[in-house]
Amino acid sequence: KFISFEGIDGAGKSTHIDYVAERLQAALTAQNKQVICSREPGGTPLGETLRQILLQQKMHLETEALLMFAVRREHIAQVIEPALKRGDWVISDRFTDASFAYQGGGRHLSLEKLNVLEQWVHPHLQPDLTLLFDVPLEVARARLDATRDLDKFEQEKATFFADTRNEYLRRAAEFPQRFRIIDSTRSIDEIRVQIDMLIDALLSN
Ligand code: C5P
Repeated sequence: KFISFEGIDGAGKSTHIDYVAERLQAALTAQNKQVICSREPGGTPLGETLRQILLQQKMHLETEALLMFAVRREHIAQVIEPALKRGDWVISDRFTDASFAYQGGGRHLSLEKLNVLEQWVHPHLQPDLTLLFDVPLEVARARLDATRDLDKFEQEKATFFADTRNEYLRRAAEFPQRFRIIDSTRSIDEIRVQIDMLIDALLSN
Protein backbone atom coordinates (compact mmCIF):
# COMPACT_ATOMS: atom_id res chain seq x y z
CA LYS A 1 0.00 0.00 0.00
CA PHE A 2 1.02 3.59 -0.65
CA ILE A 3 0.47 6.43 1.84
CA SER A 4 1.26 10.08 1.15
CA PHE A 5 1.63 12.88 3.70
CA GLU A 6 0.64 16.37 2.62
CA GLY A 7 0.18 19.84 4.06
CA ILE A 8 1.55 23.36 3.84
CA ASP A 9 4.87 24.22 5.45
CA GLY A 10 4.45 24.30 9.22
CA ALA A 11 1.34 22.08 9.23
CA GLY A 12 3.19 19.43 11.23
CA LYS A 13 3.23 16.44 8.89
CA SER A 14 6.89 15.60 9.57
CA THR A 15 6.15 15.13 13.26
CA HIS A 16 3.91 12.18 12.48
CA ILE A 17 5.74 10.32 9.73
CA ASP A 18 8.15 8.38 11.96
CA TYR A 19 5.27 7.43 14.23
CA VAL A 20 3.23 6.02 11.35
CA ALA A 21 6.26 4.20 9.92
CA GLU A 22 7.08 2.54 13.25
CA ARG A 23 3.51 1.60 13.91
CA LEU A 24 3.07 0.13 10.45
CA GLN A 25 6.37 -1.73 10.60
CA ALA A 26 5.33 -3.31 13.90
CA ALA A 27 2.15 -4.56 12.26
CA LEU A 28 3.80 -5.74 9.03
CA THR A 29 6.92 -7.47 10.33
CA ALA A 30 4.94 -10.64 11.02
CA GLN A 31 4.02 -10.72 7.34
CA ASN A 32 7.66 -10.18 6.32
CA LYS A 33 6.84 -6.83 4.77
CA GLN A 34 8.86 -3.65 4.94
CA VAL A 35 7.80 -0.04 5.30
CA ILE A 36 9.76 2.24 2.98
CA CYS A 37 9.85 5.88 4.07
CA SER A 38 10.61 8.40 1.38
CA ARG A 39 10.06 12.00 0.37
CA GLU A 40 9.52 14.44 -2.48
CA PRO A 41 11.19 16.35 -3.79
CA GLY A 42 13.84 13.68 -3.21
CA GLY A 43 13.52 9.95 -2.69
CA THR A 44 16.45 8.88 -4.90
CA PRO A 45 20.05 10.14 -5.30
CA LEU A 46 19.04 12.06 -8.42
CA GLY A 47 15.92 13.32 -6.67
CA GLU A 48 17.92 14.58 -3.69
CA THR A 49 20.30 16.42 -6.02
CA LEU A 50 17.36 18.02 -7.81
CA ARG A 51 15.82 18.88 -4.42
CA GLN A 52 18.85 21.03 -3.57
CA ILE A 53 18.49 22.84 -6.88
CA LEU A 54 14.74 23.26 -6.46
CA LEU A 55 15.08 24.65 -2.95
CA GLN A 56 17.95 27.01 -3.69
CA GLN A 57 17.60 28.37 -7.19
CA LYS A 58 15.05 30.67 -8.64
CA MET A 59 13.62 29.32 -11.90
CA HIS A 60 10.67 29.57 -14.24
CA LEU A 61 7.50 28.17 -12.71
CA GLU A 62 7.15 25.57 -15.47
CA THR A 63 10.77 24.51 -15.05
CA GLU A 64 10.01 23.99 -11.36
CA ALA A 65 6.92 21.91 -12.15
CA LEU A 66 8.78 19.82 -14.73
CA LEU A 67 11.64 19.17 -12.31
CA MET A 68 9.17 18.14 -9.59
CA PHE A 69 7.68 15.59 -11.98
CA ALA A 70 11.14 14.47 -13.12
CA VAL A 71 11.99 13.79 -9.47
CA ARG A 72 8.70 11.92 -9.19
CA ARG A 73 9.30 9.81 -12.29
CA GLU A 74 12.60 8.62 -10.86
CA HIS A 75 11.09 8.09 -7.41
CA ILE A 76 8.31 5.94 -8.84
CA ALA A 77 10.67 3.90 -11.01
CA GLN A 78 13.38 3.37 -8.40
CA VAL A 79 11.46 3.21 -5.14
CA ILE A 80 7.67 3.21 -5.20
CA GLU A 81 6.84 0.68 -7.90
CA PRO A 82 9.51 -1.87 -6.92
CA ALA A 83 8.38 -1.70 -3.30
CA LEU A 84 4.69 -2.09 -4.13
CA LYS A 85 5.52 -5.02 -6.42
CA ARG A 86 7.31 -6.74 -3.56
CA GLY A 87 4.26 -6.20 -1.37
CA ASP A 88 6.05 -3.64 0.79
CA TRP A 89 4.40 -0.43 1.95
CA VAL A 90 5.54 3.05 0.94
CA ILE A 91 5.14 6.25 2.92
CA SER A 92 5.99 9.39 0.95
CA ASP A 93 6.39 12.80 2.52
CA ARG A 94 4.60 14.66 -0.31
CA PHE A 95 3.52 13.39 -3.72
CA THR A 96 1.60 14.78 -6.70
CA ASP A 97 -0.98 16.62 -4.59
CA ALA A 98 1.91 18.89 -3.52
CA SER A 99 2.51 19.84 -7.16
CA PHE A 100 -1.14 20.77 -7.53
CA ALA A 101 -1.14 22.67 -4.23
CA TYR A 102 2.19 24.53 -4.54
CA GLN A 103 2.81 24.97 -8.26
CA GLY A 104 -0.92 25.04 -9.13
CA GLY A 105 -2.64 26.67 -6.16
CA GLY A 106 0.22 28.72 -4.73
CA ARG A 107 1.96 29.79 -7.91
CA HIS A 108 -0.99 29.58 -10.32
CA LEU A 109 0.36 27.13 -12.88
CA SER A 110 -2.62 25.86 -14.84
CA LEU A 111 -4.12 22.74 -13.33
CA GLU A 112 -4.60 21.41 -16.84
CA LYS A 113 -0.86 21.37 -17.42
CA LEU A 114 -0.39 19.61 -14.10
CA ASN A 115 -3.03 17.07 -15.09
CA VAL A 116 -1.11 16.38 -18.29
CA LEU A 117 2.11 15.83 -16.34
CA GLU A 118 0.32 13.55 -13.90
CA GLN A 119 -1.16 11.51 -16.74
CA TRP A 120 2.26 11.27 -18.31
CA VAL A 121 4.22 10.30 -15.21
CA HIS A 122 1.78 8.09 -13.32
CA PRO A 123 -1.48 7.43 -15.15
CA HIS A 124 -2.29 4.40 -13.02
CA LEU A 125 -0.72 5.10 -9.63
CA GLN A 126 -2.41 6.93 -6.75
CA PRO A 127 -1.84 6.75 -3.01
CA ASP A 128 -4.20 4.43 -1.16
CA LEU A 129 -4.34 6.99 1.63
CA THR A 130 -3.41 10.67 1.66
CA LEU A 131 -3.14 12.32 5.06
CA LEU A 132 -3.62 16.07 4.70
CA PHE A 133 -2.31 17.91 7.76
CA ASP A 134 -4.32 21.08 7.87
CA VAL A 135 -3.90 24.21 9.99
CA PRO A 136 -4.89 27.84 9.63
CA LEU A 137 -2.11 29.99 8.17
CA GLU A 138 -1.32 31.82 11.40
CA VAL A 139 -0.63 28.53 13.15
CA ALA A 140 1.63 27.31 10.36
CA ARG A 141 3.50 30.60 10.27
CA ALA A 142 4.04 30.63 14.04
CA ARG A 143 5.38 27.06 13.95
CA LEU A 144 7.81 27.87 11.15
CA ASP A 145 9.09 31.00 12.86
CA ALA A 146 9.71 28.99 16.00
CA THR A 147 11.44 26.01 14.47
CA ARG A 148 13.51 26.74 11.40
CA ASP A 149 15.15 29.10 9.02
CA LEU A 150 12.98 30.16 6.16
CA ASP A 151 14.23 28.88 2.83
CA LYS A 152 13.29 30.11 -0.63
CA PHE A 153 9.86 28.51 -0.58
CA GLU A 154 8.95 29.58 2.91
CA GLN A 155 9.66 33.24 2.24
CA GLU A 156 6.58 33.44 0.04
CA LYS A 157 3.83 35.81 0.96
CA ALA A 158 0.83 34.78 3.01
CA THR A 159 -1.51 34.64 0.02
CA PHE A 160 0.76 31.96 -1.41
CA PHE A 161 0.16 29.68 1.55
CA ALA A 162 -3.54 30.52 1.58
CA ASP A 163 -3.82 29.54 -2.08
CA THR A 164 -1.72 26.43 -1.50
CA ARG A 165 -3.87 25.35 1.43
CA ASN A 166 -7.08 25.99 -0.52
CA GLU A 167 -5.91 23.82 -3.40
CA TYR A 168 -5.07 21.02 -0.97
CA LEU A 169 -8.56 21.29 0.53
CA ARG A 170 -10.14 21.39 -2.92
CA ARG A 171 -8.34 18.19 -3.89
CA ALA A 172 -9.35 16.55 -0.62
CA ALA A 173 -12.97 17.28 -1.54
CA GLU A 174 -12.40 16.04 -5.10
CA PHE A 175 -10.84 12.72 -4.03
CA PRO A 176 -12.61 11.84 -0.80
CA GLN A 177 -11.88 8.11 -1.01
CA ARG A 178 -8.17 8.50 -0.48
CA PHE A 179 -7.91 11.84 1.37
CA ARG A 180 -8.25 12.22 5.11
CA ILE A 181 -7.95 15.70 6.58
CA ILE A 182 -6.10 15.83 9.89
CA ASP A 183 -6.92 18.88 12.00
CA SER A 184 -3.35 19.60 12.94
CA THR A 185 -4.15 22.29 15.51
CA ARG A 186 -4.82 19.46 17.98
CA SER A 187 -2.24 17.89 20.27
CA ILE A 188 0.12 15.22 18.97
CA ASP A 189 -1.64 12.60 21.09
CA GLU A 190 -5.07 13.48 19.76
CA ILE A 191 -3.80 13.34 16.21
CA ARG A 192 -2.22 9.93 16.88
CA VAL A 193 -5.58 8.54 17.94
CA GLN A 194 -7.06 9.54 14.59
CA ILE A 195 -4.02 8.27 12.67
CA ASP A 196 -4.18 4.92 14.50
CA MET A 197 -7.75 4.43 13.35
CA LEU A 198 -6.92 5.28 9.75
CA ILE A 199 -3.91 2.96 9.70
CA ASP A 200 -5.88 0.13 11.28
CA ALA A 201 -8.56 0.51 8.63
CA LEU A 202 -5.93 0.33 5.89
CA LEU A 203 -4.27 -2.71 7.46
CA SER A 204 -7.52 -4.61 7.61
CA ASN A 205 -8.54 -4.27 3.99
O1 C5P B 1 8.03 18.94 2.71
P1 C5P B 1 9.27 19.72 2.75
O2 C5P B 1 9.28 20.76 3.82
O3 C5P B 1 10.50 18.87 2.78
O4 C5P B 1 9.33 20.52 1.36
C1 C5P B 1 10.43 21.35 1.04
C2 C5P B 1 9.94 22.64 0.38
O5 C5P B 1 9.56 22.42 -0.96
C3 C5P B 1 8.77 23.20 1.11
O6 C5P B 1 9.13 24.50 1.54
C4 C5P B 1 7.67 23.25 0.10
O7 C5P B 1 7.05 24.49 0.21
C5 C5P B 1 8.36 23.12 -1.24
N1 C5P B 1 7.61 22.36 -2.25
C6 C5P B 1 7.07 23.01 -3.35
N2 C5P B 1 6.39 22.27 -4.31
C7 C5P B 1 6.26 20.93 -4.20
C8 C5P B 1 6.81 20.27 -3.08
C9 C5P B 1 7.49 21.02 -2.13
O8 C5P B 1 7.15 24.22 -3.46
N3 C5P B 1 5.62 20.26 -5.15
